[in-house]
Amino acid sequence: MRETVDFLLQHWLRVDTLCERPRFAEHSQDTFAAVLDTCERIAREKFAPFNRLVDTEEPRFDGEKVILPEATHAAWKAYAESGMLAAAQDAGIGGMQLPYTVEAAANAFFAKASASIGAGMLTVGNANLLMAHGSPAQQRVFAMAEFEGRWSGTMCLSEPQAGSSLSDVATRAEPDGDDFEADPLGPRYRLRGNKMWISAGEHELTENIVHLVLAKIPGPDGKLVPGTRGISLFIVPKRMVDAEGRLTGERNDVALAGLNHKCGWRGTTNTLLNFGEGRFRPGGRAGAVGWRVGKPGEGLRCMFHMMNEARIGVGLAATMLGMAGYEASLAYARQRPQGRPITGSGKDPAQPPVPIIQHADVKRMLLAQKSYAEGALALELYCARLVDDTHTGDAATAADARLLLEVLTPIAKSWPSEWCLEANSLAIQVLGGYGYTRDFPVEQYWRDNRLNMIHEGTHGIQALDLLGRKVVMDGGAGLKLLATRISATVERAGHVEGLAEPANALAAALQRLGAATKSAWATGVPEEALANAVPYLQAFGHVVLAWTWLDVALAARGHALEGGKLAAMRYFYAFELPKIDAWLGVVARREEVARTMRDEWF
Ligand SMILES: Cc1cc2nc3c(=O)[nH]c(=O)nc-3n(C[C@H](O)[C@H](O)[C@H](O)COP(=O)(O)OP(=O)(O)OC[C@H]3O[C@@H](n4cnc5c(N)ncnc54)[C@H](O)[C@@H]3O)c2cc1C
Repeated sequence: MRETVDFLLQHWLRVDTLCERPRFAEHSQDTFAAVLDTCERIAREKFAPFNRLVDTEEPRFDGEKVILPEATHAAWKAYAESGMLAAAQDAGIGGMQLPYTVEAAANAFFAKASASIGAGMLTVGNANLLMAHGSPAQQRVFAMAEFEGRWSGTMCLSEPQAGSSLSDVATRAEPDGDDFEADPLGPRYRLRGNKMWISAGEHELTENIVHLVLAKIPGPDGKLVPGTRGISLFIVPKRMVDAEGRLTGERNDVALAGLNHKCGWRGTTNTLLNFGEGRFRPGGRAGAVGWRVGKPGEGLRCMFHMMNEARIGVGLAATMLGMAGYEASLAYARQRPQGRPITGSGKDPAQPPVPIIQHADVKRMLLAQKSYAEGALALELYCARLVDDTHTGDAATAADARLLLEVLTPIAKSWPSEWCLEANSLAIQVLGGYGYTRDFPVEQYWRDNRLNMIHEGTHGIQALDLLGRKVVMDGGAGLKLLATRISATVERAGHVEGLAEPANALAAALQRLGAATKSAWATGVPEEALANAVPYLQAFGHVVLAWTWLDVALAARGHALEGGKLAAMRYFYAFELPKIDAWLGVVARREEVARTMRDEWF
């Protein structure tokens, strides 16, 4: 995988050119390589050997605290000491000022070694959000402690009754006393409510946990404002702190109501948290103390600010699980003898069995995994590069990158979640019966990966976002810009021997995608268009991946990896791209069977 990462970063995305930008001027290809080396080593030593252990030794609650394996503590410590929690931050505050593209690539090693132990994704997202929207005091007290790894962070959006529909959030935040606005850490509130599914919501890995909580401030009539407009954002630490960031010794009123026992991803706790139930009484009163971030009613806007990176992070985790399964099944297929080759005269039982990698069908399954996992890795790193462009590119580059990310982020999140999960299923298949046992790692990869179509916006919600909003906003500007980029690749590949045929196929696919988008919206009735949003997402994703593969194939010419990359590209065009016809068929004719099916007919 390292070879592929290096090839994509250096030859395809040309990350060296980022060093021409003032923010990254102190960096070079060498410093980037040093970060990748360090992360690869820590992942190999502190994460990979314990991936199965954290799966079998689920987090436990002893009534007072949550117990995690010692290996998880060691992994967190090593990750924090690597400086990766502050990778993107200014050097002036102890950060590395690393481009996000390199940060994402470096984090990929941890996701592959043990997505389940996880590392700092939530903590970094939490602290970055505070750097964008928090007050200087909030940044100094909370974000800095998170960058140092002393404290960790969570994102508390979901509630038992409010998952996909955050407008139904019912956690209340009421001003804490008449002087609530005078607190040096920000306007102070008392929160009451329940937050469900909170990852890393309780543990002893760090001395404090910084919860970022979405809650509604009641109006003068005591009622909560319906919809998302009324949602604000609050910092609610597990342990109370003073204005200098020192622990006061008091517990905040945040209580673990229970641990969720998951299908996979068991190395990270998942919690139901009760805020303000009175288990603890900070300042002598029930109610979780929370300091507001940003203005009232702007909670979701602040959260969405971090969405691109959070979703690329989820896509990358899904990708790396796909990669882990690919590598495990490839190694197995090379050494497992079984069956004899089919020859012109049939099979010769007198011959010794061959390694299963010699069977075309096994190679098909390996090629599928390679095309999914390596293609997804390329897409995620491309999107990460766009994130860098939004921050450090010139005005035109930044504007284009922002627009492209609008349409590509739902794909970056969803495509690997679906297809790298399929890759994990194929990895199990390559191992046959052994793949279905816990003696081999591939079944865990599948279980761990199954989460990714669910969290950070389910598959269905991502699809609605893409077809309902992203491709139609600004008169379809995002889709048009993407089409321009795809057409440029088609144009370049059209003149290259061996690539002209896929280039033509991609041009035709792009044309069909555009036509289906129009047909879906031809009646202008959202229920009709959006009933088939998921097949649209699938087709859109496959077109984006076909484009990615063709572009990667162009860059691979003459490179040591050319053979494998071209074969994976050819596989994708032969086996995968044709699937879009079925998906776009139902989209274009606004197929109504799912929409009109009656409840009582099931
Ligand atoms: C392991 C794990 C970790 C998580 N970590 C966190 C975390 O750290 N912080 C946090 O806040 N949340 C977290 N979540 C919550 C996660 O984001 C939610 O599970 C997700 O948003 C879906 O909400 P739900 O489970 O209530 O499902 P629902 O919203 O009830 O959805 C159920 C099904 O209905 C579909 N559906 C719902 N509404 C619509 C609609 N309008 N149109 C079409 N289809 C629809 C969905 O696509 C889905 O298939 C986590 C979840 C899990 C399982």
